[in-house]
Amino acid sequence: MSTKRKLAIHGGKPVRENYLQYGRQWLDEKDIQAVADVMRGDYLTTGPTIATFERETAKYVGARHAVAFANGTAALHGACFAAGIGEKDEVITSPLTFAASANCILYQGGTPVFADINVQTYNIEPHAVDALITEKTKAIIPVDFSGLPADIDAIKKIAQKYNLIVIEDAAHALGATYKGKKVGSLADMTMFSFHPVKHITTGEGGVITTNNEGYYHTLLQFRNHGIIKDANKLINNHGLWYYEMQSLGYNYRITDIQAALGISQLIKLSHFIKIRQDYAEYYNSAFRDIEEITCPAETLNLFSSRHLYIIRLNLEKLTAGRKEIFHALVKENIGVNVHYIPVYYHPYYQKLGYSKGLCPNAEKVYEEIITLPLFPAMSRQDLDDVICAVKKVVSHYCKKR
Ligand SMILES: *Cc1c(COP(=O)(O)O)cnc(C)c1O
Repeated sequence: MSTKRKLAIHGGKPVRENYLQYGRQWLDEKDIQAVADVMRGDYLTTGPTIATFERETAKYVGARHAVAFANGTAALHGACFAAGIGEKDEVITSPLTFAASANCILYQGGTPVFADINVQTYNIEPHAVDALITEKTKAIIPVDFSGLPADIDAIKKIAQKYNLIVIEDAAHALGATYKGKKVGSLADMTMFSFHPVKHITTGEGGVITTNNEGYYHTLLQFRNHGIIKDANKLINNHGLWYYEMQSLGYNYRITDIQAALGISQLIKLSHFIKIRQDYAEYYNSAFRDIEEITCPAETLNLFSSRHLYIIRLNLEKLTAGRKEIFHALVKENIGVNVHYIPVYYHPYYQKLGYSKGLCPNAEKVYEEIITLPLFPAMSRQDLDDVICAVKKVVSHYCKKR
């Protein structure tokens, strides 16, 4: 039996009729209306809608400030700039993440240092971070992998001991909580992404949330070429037209069009997370008793926002490797994925001198993981199709048949 299937349509149209993607946006008429309203107004960019979106985002995560960027990667770049990361600085991050978590360090001329992960949570191990601290270490960029918060208390303890800055890559973790507190005000700066596969979308977009006044002003300036307009902060002043570029910034601005979409999406965020949570539980109960696969870790005190649902294959119980099983699931029209190729495996990083064997846990986990589709616009039928396909493929490659 093949699982021929149709994508459920709660909003928008499916891209392909029979192929289930691993993640996608949920847009409705209210979102479209919000965007149209801005397009009929005075400001397409750098208008009041951005400030409203920033206020709402900061309020949601419980941070004092939010600065929105053109995308999450630009936001991370801004955070590295605000943290003062430069040449000769080392910054510790996870190898099991999207390249952007480490690229932002390179943008500033710094050196990424990869700390190995915990084999259950897939987040960086605080003791591995501690072991990598040198005189050059400037910051730590933990990643809340799949929506499960990194051990931020332990990481902050290390940061305090060595006077380091913590930038949390929470691209997966909007709405997640750590010991009862929302991710977004725990680190010095926290980044969220609004790419369409993430919890809410602005098309492209990202944000840094922070409680630090200094970082806040630096981020605002960095996103707009390093330009200052506030008369109180100018070095010279030639008249009313005058502005000043006081540092090297970029054009990393988000538009009001995007911000309007973001505000509209934020209203639905807790509903989205509830569905993700519910769907993840549904997968868990379907897979719990299959000994060939391991479900995502359940952890005390941490509430995952369930960005990704990742199963791990127990390869010693299977007659095929991850590649065959992955390909077999694609044949069933299931849009599986792998998160992630260890960052330092990429040829660019290999050329920089990183070699395989650096983080054995991350490398082993990489060989065994498969991301299953999980997004709020999926239907129960979609979930059942995925479960059916996984069971079919696993039993086909199961050793004890
Ligand atoms: C999506 C993502 C980013 C980058 O966000 P963009 O908005 O796509 O630039 C960074 N880190 C992680 C872990 C991500 O998943």
